[in-house]
Amino acid sequence: MPRPIHAVIHPQALQNNLSRLRRAAADARVWAVVKANAYGHGLARVYEALRAADGFALLDLNEAQTLRDAGWRGPLLLLEGVFEQRDLEWCSRLDLWHVVHHEGQIDMLSRHKTQTPQRVFLKMNSGMNRLGFAPQAFKSAWTRLNALPQVDEISLMTHFATADGEQGIAAQCEVFEQHSSDLPGERSLANSAALLRHSTAEAVTADWVRPGIALYGSSPDHGVHDAAHWQLQPAMSLRSQLMAVQTLKAGDSVGYGAAFVADRDMRIGVVSCGYADGYPRHAPTGTPVLVNGLRTRTLGRVSMDMLCVDLTPLPQASTGDEVTLWGSAASGQVLCIDEVAAAAGTVGYELMCALAARVPVSLAQ
Ligand SMILES: *Cc1c(COP(=O)(O)O)cnc(C)c1O
Repeated sequence: MPRPIHAVIHPQALQNNLSRLRRAAADARVWAVVKANAYGHGLARVYEALRAADGFALLDLNEAQTLRDAGWRGPLLLLEGVFEQRDLEWCSRLDLWHVVHHEGQIDMLSRHKTQTPQRVFLKMNSGMNRLGFAPQAFKSAWTRLNALPQVDEISLMTHFATADGEQGIAAQCEVFEQHSSDLPGERSLANSAALLRHSTAEAVTADWVRPGIALYGSSPDHGVHDAAHWQLQPAMSLRSQLMAVQTLKAGDSVGYGAAFVADRDMRIGVVSCGYADGYPRHAPTGTPVLVNGLRTRTLGRVSMDMLCVDLTPLPQASTGDEVTLWGSAASGQVLCIDEVAAAAGTVGYELMCALAARVPVSLAQ
């Protein structure tokens, strides 16, 4: 028998989350953001459940190809646009819409030989200072693009740096509005945090919204609101089993570095899950975990293939019992990935994306 660790992807949760986000988006169309192999869930695995989206947004040409091969005929958007000239051939062949965020991409477009003009999203750097044209250069970029026979409709977009926090989106919205209000075209501004936290802002529910993380059931502002607050359900569960049980005496230690020392006699469980499975090594003693659906905590350091859990609340627990590292237990109790991430000093995004290739993945019915 292989190690009992496995991940389960929940199509119903994806469907629930998508319709939840659609309700927040008013009349806007919804890009399902599926970059990074659908945030670690597997692009091919989430496709059916997310088909009700209006389009898919991603980064890689091979991911776009995967969706076309799966039969998707609707819009596909390359969120970072093209990286080299020949990528435009792919855009033509796969009918991709693409982001234009710097002059070099306009140069490439001007050299592209095509009969069919391409749809582009012109990106403004409204304050995040990662990608996009400076606000003052936005109009001239638009004018240049608009003059190209290779270009069809031009939509306008920007990306928020602090939609999940107190600073909010007002300042960036204002910059965007100020430097784009007299340009035609559809607008796209909101990620998950902007959509859920600022859905009354008109700019947010403009023509297209771009939720990613919330689709997968993780809260975009965990710490302020949890996933249950936003009515999101976990789309990924990481489950394993107890592979051994140990009885400690007061003073005994657990694992590498003897990082946990028992202050009383206690039973602990050894779980088939370690950092080589994608579980965060930095998760300290006390990180929440479910055993048979009941909440307990990790003990000591996470090692490559194993971690240890406190069985004090589960006197009956024994080898083979179910352990849920995040997501839902078979019996339905939920341990939000955001809680595990927070304990380990990271975010749900990173844990999902880091699910290791050696972990078998199945689809829930
Ligand atoms: C990843 C990404 C999103 C989705 O962000 P979430 O925080 O996951 O909702 C939206 N827009 C762009 C440009 C992105 O790169």
